[in-house]
Amino acid sequence: RRTGPHGSVVVIGLGRFGRALALELVDEDTEVLGIDEDAEVVQALSSTLTHTVRADSTKEGALRQLGVHEFDRAVVAIGTDLEASILTASLLISFGIENVWAKAISEAHGRILTQLGVHHVVYPEHDMGQRVAHLVRGRMLDYIEFEDDFAMVKTNPPADIVGIPLSNSAVRSRYGVTVVAIKRPGEGFTYATAETVVEADDTIIVAGRTRATERFSELQ
Ligand code: ADP
Repeated sequence: RRTGPHGSVVVIGLGRFGRALALELVDEDTEVLGIDEDAEVVQALSSTLTHTVRADSTKEGALRQLGVHEFDRAVVAIGTDLEASILTASLLISFGIENVWAKAISEAHGRILTQLGVHHVVYPEHDMGQRVAHLVRGRMLDYIEFEDDFAMVKTNPPADIVGIPLSNSAVRSRYGVTVVAIKRPGEGFTYATAETVVEADDTIIVAGRTRATERFSELQ
């Protein structure tokens, strides 16, 4: 089943997380089959998603009837009902779906999903809590941490890199971060180059080790 430009995705569980995920996929031109056992939830999204169906995803027959086994990407967005999450994930894995994502609400939940063979386990509440902690503590405007202690941070430039080309301010050797992109007020982001001169009211994106990006964003 590969009809949309980016293939199609089945999203099971249309609570807050599943809904946001499904709507974002649709926004980016990906076809979405949304499944939820709650008739009201299904009704509310029926005009927005490509297909929306009311079904109990713990029932193998119901999933097969919907053609779920033919998808190559599926997301289990059921959190609170642990049993439903695990049974659903187990069925998707037994179908041989190549890319199964599942949301976990606790470490134990995530461990079980991994043991079942779920390819990508995500912890939205936990990860967002950590991310917001970095925003609360520092002066950054946005923050994404990748694996291996590497992060990208959106911040305002410290005074000592303003007014001179990036090649002259030696940001990388002095602060251990690289200025990746820059945005003038009212304009979009563009890539930073060695010749880029940062102004005081610009917004910049820097990449580097997590602590280095944090320290850099705390400079005045
Ligand atoms: P969130 O915190 O993102 O709102 P929830 O776990 O509260 O996530 O919501 C999960 C959604 O999954 C709910 O809309 C619920 O109706 C749906 N759901 C739960 N169990 C099943 C199931 N067995 N089959 C289909 N949908 C289910």
